[in-house]
This record gives sequence, structure tokens and C-alpha cells, in this order.
Amino acid sequence: MSYEGEMLKDLRMPPRKDVEKALLVTLFKHNGIIKEFGPRQEIVDEIANEFRLNEKQRAAFLQTIYRKENRVKKSFLWHRLLFRAADSLANEKLVSRPTSTLQLTKKREWMLTEKGFDEALKLLRIPNTQKEFLPTKSFEVQRVIKKLTDTRRPKSYNPFDNQKKTVKVTRNSILRERGFRQAVIEAYDFRCAACGMKINSPDSLYWEVEAAHIVPHRHYGKDDVWNGLSLCRFHHWAFDVGWFALRTNFTIEVAPKINSLPVSEGRMGNYEVLKNILKNDVKIILPKQPNVYPHVNAILWHRKHIFHSSERI
Ligand SMILES: [Zn+2]
Repeated sequence: MSYEGEMLKDLRMPPRKDVEKALLVTLFKHNGIIKEFGPRQEIVDEIANEFRLNEKQRAAFLQTIYRKENRVKKSFLWHRLLFRAADSLANEKLVSRPTSTLQLTKKREWMLTEKGFDEALKLLRIPNTQKEFLPTKSFEVQRVIKKLTDTRRPKSYNPFDNQKKTVKVTRNSILRERGFRQAVIEAYDFRCAACGMKINSPDSLYWEVEAAHIVPHRHYGKDDVWNGLSLCRFHHWAFDVGWFALRTNFTIEVAPKINSLPVSEGRMGNYEVLKNILKNDVKIILPKQPNVYPHVNAILWHRKHIFHSSERI
């Protein structure tokens, strides 16, 4: 048995397969990304705590003697075990290696792949149907996000996808949709562009905001950040049905009908919810990067076809 193998055995370190599982679950809980393992990193202790490692197990290190250079390299046994587990997950294509993530995010991190994401869901018994609502990143979705947010904003943008007329759900279109959702809500820092609300579920897994299409899917609106807005559920609905629209200077215009609502509507008791939550002339909260602002062509389409046509009814 190797020196490392013997130490693992003597110290009763957890089996590598168990560490692999814990690593997948931890990655999932950290939105799909963790840094390379090093001393004083939260993640290292977090997983060690899960296995209830004692002080001796945490402090154990291996010594490698480099005779030529006349130096001794020490490395923690626990870090080595974590690394070996991650390496084995990477061999199974369940995570991406820091070297390939670096090219995508400029950070040296381990990242879940789609395959790893599915495996983590299985381990946590979360149904796969929840996948599109989870903010967990995968290497493949991150690649889509990068493309969506790095592409330069075109001057004459066509928000319609003419090819969508023959709707075919492919693996790529699913990734594209998840990438769209993630890119939009991230661009707006998980806030509603109309009211600023930012709220997560108690388990921190589900953001309340949704990525709304300005030109909706049913009108063949594209999954581009320029055709997206991050909105809370109420504002998403209100935007989709034409209770409000955007002007090209990004201020909100509320449908005039708001002033002639019957008294039985738009209220909670005596409180006028609708009037208080739809603020005329207020500028929406925009992303930091102007490149991902909503595009004027999408805004104008929504004004003409959803907002104004709702007035005529
Ligand atoms: Zn809102």
C-alpha cells in the first residue's frame, strides 16, 4: 500500500466514493462552483465538518522529499483526498476541471457539468423538473451565459426568431433557455426591474424573480438578454398582460385604465395594491452593463402589440 493509502487507512479517513458524493452535493449548494482546494477555505472545512473529521484527521499531512532541490513539500491529507475525489469526478465528466473553467470564467474553479447537476439532484432527491428554476450553474449553461452576455449589442436588433416557427425542443434549446433565464436574473442582480424586490427561498435555492421575455415566446421572441427583463411574479404578469410598458428611456408607463378600476379590484382590504405597485414614470432598475439593457426594438414591439392593444379592449 502506498504511503498516502496507509495514512488514509491509519487515520480512518472517509472513503473516496463518499467524499465524491459529498463534493457533488456541496457544489450544488454553492450554486455549482467551488474554488480549488486550499488552506483556510470555507469549503474545505464545510465538507470536513460533514464527515465530522477530528483534529488529527484535519491536521495530518504528507511529506514529499525532493532530494535534488533539497526541500520537503507538505500537503494536507484531507486536501489531497478532496482533490482526488474532484479529479475522479472530472474523469467521469461530472465536474469541469479548474483549467477548463478558467477559460470560461477567468477563475480557477471546479464547476458542475449538466451530468453532475443531474447526479446531484438524484442524490438530493430533487425532481429533475425543478432544474430550470434552480440558480445552480453548470459548465454548459455558463457557456451559453457567456455567449449571451459577451455578444456585442447589435444596433438593429431583430427580437424575433423566425426559425422558431417549427418548434423543436432540443438539448441545445433547453440549455439556451436555462442560460437565458440565468443570464437575465444575474444581470439584474436577482431583483425585479420594476419594484426592486430581491428575495430567495428559505433554503436559498429558488430566487423569486423570473426572466420575462419582452417579445413573448408565443410571438417567437428570442432567448436573448436584450429581449429579457428580470421581474417578480406580479410584475411579470402585469407586463405580459399590458398593465405597464417601458418607454425607450426605460421609464414605466402604466395603462390609464388603472384610474377607472372598479372598487372591488386591485385592492387588499382598503389598500390599493395595484396603484401602489405600478408606479408611472419611474425608471426601472437596469443592469450594471449597458450591453445587456433591454433593446429598444423589443420595447417598441411590446408597446405596440401588447400595451396599446390592451388599451383598445
Ligand atoms: Zn416587482
